[in-house]
Amino acid sequence: MFKCFQVPMFIYPLVFILGTIIGSFLNVVIFRLRAKKSFLKGRSYCLKCKKQIAWHDNIPILSFLILRGRCRNCKTKISFQYPLVELSTGILFVIIFFHNYQLPFTNYYLLIIDYRLLITIFRNLFFVSILIIIFVYDLKYYLILDKITIPAIIIVSAFNLLLGFSLANILISAIIGGSFFLIQFLISKGRWIGGGDIRLGILMGVMLGWEMALLAIMIAYVIGALFSVILLIFKKKGLKSQIPLGTFLSMAAVIVMIYGNEILEWYLEILTVY
Ligand SMILES: [Zn+2]
Repeated sequence: MFKCFQVPMFIYPLVFILGTIIGSFLNVVIFRLRAKKSFLKGRSYCLKCKKQIAWHDNIPILSFLILRGRCRNCKTKISFQYPLVELSTGILFVIIFFHNYQLPFTNYYLLIIDYRLLITIFRNLFFVSILIIIFVYDLKYYLILDKITIPAIIIVSAFNLLLGFSLANILISAIIGGSFFLIQFLISKGRWIGGGDIRLGILMGVMLGWEMALLAIMIAYVIGALFSVILLIFKKKGLKSQIPLGTFLSMAAVIVMIYGNEILEWYLEILTVY
């Protein structure tokens, strides 16, 4: 038996700061995907006055607060998306890190030695970053980009192969995750579901395993239905208007990735009580 150690507290603020920096990068990725520019090179600049943003005005969350959400040069308002994405990424990184290190065999020694634990954390942080991009992008533009989902499917599969999952296991999960949407796509001749949803279904299958992927899809539909009802009550949208399914799917995938086991246990408990 291994001894149980607590991860030192100072790790969490560091993970949070790392998360906000990654979140800042995700904002750049979202913007440049839309503008069809490379997101690996070039400095950030103000959209209005085109002035380059200095490094000290580009600090996640803090710069937005200090500048009160406006460009230093031309005072144009900066979208709330920027600090919100940075903050959410930071919080999700801390939750994922905390969750993985709650495993009973965790200790300092294993933090370095147990490469599987490290790979799991990297994989989960990567996956949540991808889901944040899909969440924002689908919400803003009603699109799930293949440029994001297809490389993510390959990278997450590689992570899972490293973790010792069998190729058959990964393929079955991909097929089940994708076919849920493929069937609807075929029945509706592409009216209910877009091709992007199918690719996202495959990604969720590969990442979560098919059982958890189906749970996530179920939760996404519940969130989506609640959201539609609220919008209808406030008459924001007509019945025919588009619903960003990718936004709900990515939200549900994050919830299930972190709390999937707890949700299943709770659900089975309810089933056995009644
Ligand atoms: Zn400006």
